[in-house]
Amino acid sequence: MKRATYEGKAKRVVSQPDGSAHIYYKDDATAFNGVRHAEFEGKGTLNSQITERLFEYLAGRGIPTHHLGRVDERTLAAKWVDIIPIEAVVRYKVAGSLGKRTGLDHLAVCDPPIVEMYYKRDDLGDPLINDDHVRLLGLATPDEVEWIRSTARGAADALRDLFFRSGIDLVDLKFEFGRTVDGELVLADEVSPDTCRFRDLATGEILDKDLFRFDEGDLLAGYRKLLAHLDRALANGADVQS
Ligand code: 5GP
Repeated sequence: MKRATYEGKAKRVVSQPDGSAHIYYKDDATAFNGVRHAEFEGKGTLNSQITERLFEYLAGRGIPTHHLGRVDERTLAAKWVDIIPIEAVVRYKVAGSLGKRTGLDHLAVCDPPIVEMYYKRDDLGDPLINDDHVRLLGLATPDEVEWIRSTARGAADALRDLFFRSGIDLVDLKFEFGRTVDGELVLADEVSPDTCRFRDLATGEILDKDLFRFDEGDLLAGYRKLLAHLDRALANGADVQS
């Protein structure tokens, strides 16, 4: 089998002879579609640890994911998937592009939470799209779109609950989905402070990539703190199905 490599901004994905993928988490941080770039030694390891815990947590709640296991300190094994070029964003509070687009106050509550879809196309700046655009572009069938929306919302709700119990406010997050060689739809890519917005409920402290995007503070310290909160929540039995 020919080895395929996909080099992303924060990860490198390499196909394996057994049909799986090895996903190497880099220390690079980029923002604003690659306009800002920096390296943070240890970020890749932290994101791989957070993603691993969250995918395992979600799998325990019946959400199918591409995750298979750990390869080394910063590499995870996953099922090989074709990524569907739709970014599903779930928002509990207004932040980032939603504030810019609507003029709503920063951190105003979205009640009920909203699910948005973006077309994953760097050259177009990942534009917001609707179901009709998805159909026009042939990105997914109507049934798949419905599944993506409900799975994104279900997975996000489970994570918001988990983080809430560890004193963290999950503000919004982005999911990507893929099709396995068997045609199964699964949650893929990563779930980490690179792809979510987190605030400390007690202090309002930012614990995600906005630290880098807006020079808000020490990115590594924030990611480490987030992981510590997460580990406390998991150790306290928040991973036990109620
Ligand atoms: P916004 O649309 O406000 O920029 O992002 C909403 C949420 O989705 C944030 O948690 C953000 O981190 C995540 N997100 C949206 N697009 C991307 C993307 O292209 N890459 C990454 N890493 N996260 C994204």
